[in-house]
Amino acid sequence: MENLWAAWRRDFILGPREEGCVFCRRIEENSDRENHILYRGKHVFVIMNRFPYNGGHLMVVPYSHIKDLDKLTSDENCDLFDMSVKAVGVLRQAMPADGFNLGMNLGAVAGAGIEEHLHMHVVPRFRGDTSFLAVLGGTKVQSISMDDIYDMLKPGFDRLEDLS
Ligand SMILES: [Zn+2]
Repeated sequence: MENLWAAWRRDFILGPREEGCVFCRRIEENSDRENHILYRGKHVFVIMNRFPYNGGHLMVVPYSHIKDLDKLTSDENCDLFDMSVKAVGVLRQAMPADGFNLGMNLGAVAGAGIEEHLHMHVVPRFRGDTSFLAVLGGTKVQSISMDDIYDMLKPGFDRLEDLS
């Protein structure tokens, strides 16, 4: 089972490490589709996790390269949570998710992969996705390409733009 879980996180563990901050680089690159950036808000943006725990695993990230929560301005704070709420809404519409995990890993010891730039994880959960069979099912979900999931979710985020 451990191996199954490890399968889709292998690149994360074994793959080449990028220099510098991945989030800061992605936002500068201006190739949102290739980088799977779904939404650019005023203070935060939404990007798909390249090494998802589940299909549709998103991250809400402030533009500011900040490590500690208390360094966020109150505007960034508000946008971070507001955008997380909206991300759940978009996921709920686009996928048959039964629940969600939202949270932050602050510090490497807490499991942060990108420790120096804080971010909120939004992970859709599917009933039974932790059971053995569902892990196999989960691998199926993983086998939907990042681009396909991007196309599933993008219209929902585009609609947010119209509302704002
Ligand atoms: Zn950064």
